[in-house]
Amino acid sequence: MKRISCKVASVSPILDDIFNVELQPQESQSFVAGQYLQIVMAEDDKRPFSLASSPEQDDVLELHIGAPEGNPYARQVIDKLKKSGEIEVEMPFGNAGFDETSQRPILIMVGGTGFSYAKSIIEHIVDTEQDREIYLYWGGRNLGGLYLHELAYQWEELDQVKFVPVLEQAMPQWTGKKGLVHEAVLEDFADMSGLEVYIAGRFEMADVARTAFTKQGLPIEQLHGDAYEFI
Ligand SMILES: Cc1cc2nc3c(=O)[nH]c(=O)nc-3n(C[C@H](O)[C@H](O)[C@H](O)COP(=O)(O)OP(=O)(O)OC[C@H]3O[C@@H](n4cnc5c(N)ncnc54)[C@H](O)[C@@H]3O)c2cc1C
Repeated sequence: MKRISCKVASVSPILDDIFNVELQPQESQSFVAGQYLQIVMAEDDKRPFSLASSPEQDDVLELHIGAPEGNPYARQVIDKLKKSGEIEVEMPFGNAGFDETSQRPILIMVGGTGFSYAKSIIEHIVDTEQDREIYLYWGGRNLGGLYLHELAYQWEELDQVKFVPVLEQAMPQWTGKKGLVHEAVLEDFADMSGLEVYIAGRFEMADVARTAFTKQGLPIEQLHGDAYEFI
């Protein structure tokens, strides 16, 4: 892990209170797809955000930050980024990065802004031309929560990616999956023993998914998620 200074290249809203942030490090940084960085707010206050870019896009570090009004923790970060031309970050962190050694089909399950973690992994697989089967399950309260669903649908054109959006509060005309995202995974994979599973989102989601997925055959060593370091 090292501390680096980055130029804040852009902070732009993707949708409502979700921001796309681009940081330009002084020199290119190496990391594993799916790792995270910490923004240094103060010496005793460092806040984690998943890297949304792949390691191959090394001139820019992309982040997706959900900062609704009731979330001062993230809003303060957005305010600091908007005011500062330069910012200090520490990276890389996390043990839930992409495992290059496994050849199993990949299931990435994310909630809300956990999508940034999925984006880093999927773009890495595409950038390095790996022929891997990928199932992406992305859960949100509504379609607005799936703030880059057009990009996820574009990945489906690559044939190796199957994208399954899952909405908690679906509009009447929604014909896709409804409910919590881990329930949709459980419904579709009666036997999870042959999958490599990557998870990012709320800790509560990661927690219930671990219990349910292992009951449905997933060996614990095939489950990856930074949440498990904290809960
Ligand atoms: C290492 C690390 C990295 C982080 N990276 C980021 C980041 O890059 N960007 C960021 O904004 N924040 C980040 N955070 C903070 C935090 O994890 C996110 O704020 C959170 O995951 C975002 O959830 P959301 O509000 O977008 O999802 P929500 O809108 O609350 O939920 C989305 C979906 O998740 C599922 N879900 C939610 N709660 C439950 C539950 N209780 N049980 C079952 N399923 C549930 C549902 O399917 C729901 O539709 C990070 C935290 C850590 C520790």
